[in-house]
Amino acid sequence: MKLLKVIQGQHPCLSFEVFPPKTSAAFDSVQAATEAIARLNPSYMSVTYGAGGGTSDYTVRIASDLQNRFGVTPLAHLSCVSSSKVQVMQQLESLRSQGIENVLALRGDLPAGMKADDLEYHYAYELIEQIRAFGGFCIGGACYPESHPESETCVKDVEYLKRKVDSGCEFLTTQMFFDNNILYNFMYRIREAGIFVPVVAGIMPVTNPKQIRRICQISGTALPQRFRRIVDRYGDKPDAMKQAGIAYATEQIIDLYANGINAVHVYSMNKPDVAEKIQENLRSILM
Ligand SMILES: Cc1cc2nc3c(=O)[nH]c(=O)nc-3n(C[C@H](O)[C@H](O)[C@H](O)COP(=O)(O)OP(=O)(O)OC[C@H]3O[C@@H](n4cnc5c(N)ncnc54)[C@H](O)[C@@H]3O)c2cc1C
Repeated sequence: MKLLKVIQGQHPCLSFEVFPPKTSAAFDSVQAATEAIARLNPSYMSVTYGAGGGTSDYTVRIASDLQNRFGVTPLAHLSCVSSSKVQVMQQLESLRSQGIENVLALRGDLPAGMKADDLEYHYAYELIEQIRAFGGFCIGGACYPESHPESETCVKDVEYLKRKVDSGCEFLTTQMFFDNNILYNFMYRIREAGIFVPVVAGIMPVTNPKQIRRICQISGTALPQRFRRIVDRYGDKPDAMKQAGIAYATEQIIDLYANGINAVHVYSMNKPDVAEKIQENLRSILM
C-alpha cells in the first residue's frame, strides 16, 4: 500500500522503526524484534539503511518480511551519497521485486575522506528525481525542524527542502525533537514557503541518556529544561529512565495529535517493549 493514503487517512497514524543488523550474527535478534513490533499492527514500519556491505541487503530483507510475512506496510530507507547510480538502481529493482512501494530517500552522511568530485550524488533531491523516473514508489524525505546541522541558515534549509519536495518527495519525516513548539514553528515556516506535503513527526522515546546526549550533540537537537531535569534525575536508574522517557514521548504524541499532526513516527530502535508501551498508552486515542 502507498503510504500517502495512510498518512493522510482519517485515523491518527502511528508508525515504528527498526534498523538492520551490521553483521549476519545479529540478524535473528533483529528479525525477532521486527516481528514483535509488527505484531502490534502499527500503521506502517520503517527500516533504516546503512550503506554498503550486506547492510543494504538486510533493509530489503526486513522490509520484505514486513510486507510479505507480517502484513505490515514497510517504508524502506535508501541513502545515496556513498553509492553509485548503478547500485541505487539495483536496490530499487530489489525493492520492487519484493513488492515494496514506499521509499524514504536520503542523502546519508558524507563518507569520511571522500571529495565532492568523487561522488555521484550530493543531495537527496538527486536520488528523489531518480526514484521518480524509475516509477512506482511513494517517495518520502527527511526534514529538520531545528535545521540540518550543515545548513548555513534555517531559511536556506527550507529553500532546499522545497526543491526536494518539488523533485517528487510526497511526504516528509522529521528529525526527532523534544519540544513540540519547535515543530509547530517549523510547520508554519514550511507552509509559508509553499511546502504542503504531509509531515510525519519523528519522536524518540529516550531510554538511554548517554546515547541521547551524543545524538543531540551531533544533530543539534535541543534538550528542553523539563527534559534535562528528567534525565538528570533518572538517567542512572534504567527502569525509571525508561518509564519517564516513554511517558515524555507519550505526552508529546498526544499533544501533536491534539494539534492536528495526524502522523507520528516513533524511533523505536528495535525495542518491542518500548513500542508496545507507547501504543498501549495511546490505545483509546488511536481508535
Ligand atoms: C527521518 C530520518 C531518517 C533517516 N534515516 C537514515 C537512514 O536510514 N540511513 C542513513 O544513513 N541516514 C539516515 N538519516 C540521516 C540523514 O541521512 C542525514 O541527516 C544526512 O546528513 C542528510 O540527509 P538528507 O536526506 O536530509 O539530505 P539533503 O536533503 O540532501 O540535505 C543535506 C544538507 O544539504 C543541504 N541541501 C539540500 N539540497 C541542497 C541543494 N540543492 N544545494 C545546496 N544545499 C542543499 C540541506 O539544507 C542540508 O543541510 C535519516 C534522517 C532523518 C531525519
